[in-house]
Amino acid sequence: MHKIIFLDVDGVLNCQRTWQGEHEDGFATLCPDMCDRLQRVVQETDAIVVLSSTWRLFEGKGLTKLRAWLAERGITIHSHTKDLSMEIGWGNVRACRGDEIALWLEEHASEFPPLEREFVILDDDSDMLPSQKPNFVHTSFKDGLTEAHAKKAIRLLNEND
Ligand SMILES: [Mg+2]
Repeated sequence: MHKIIFLDVDGVLNCQRTWQGEHEDGFATLCPDMCDRLQRVVQETDAIVVLSSTWRLFEGKGLTKLRAWLAERGITIHSHTKDLSMEIGWGNVRACRGDEIALWLEEHASEFPPLEREFVILDDDSDMLPSQKPNFVHTSFKDGLTEAHAKKAIRLLNEND
């Protein structure tokens, strides 16, 4: 089974408590505890990480920092979702993050066939598609990625092994 984590950053790898404002590179601090939790999810599931956060749109310092923090934990970013924020999505409304994730899954269906993959979405926003609800681990900006979220992500990714 292929395992895929769609990763948001703000509100997942940092939170209100550890927020220290934006640095001169325009990106907020990451929280080591939360990055460690992500590392555990990756280690226990052998999942790949696909970036769905807006951080993906800013090549350079912020993304370089994120890659370095993840690399320290043995995690590489496989790819990222496409930006559909200017597109019209399902039901004639502005495309949401769920549409971007759905498109990634569709475009990677030969590499990761629907019946041979599990995925989770780690995000503090809630603009996912109804069909993605069972795959959604909804974090909060207040607390970021907690132990309970990490456990849930591991359970969802490994449930059909
Ligand atoms: Mg967020």
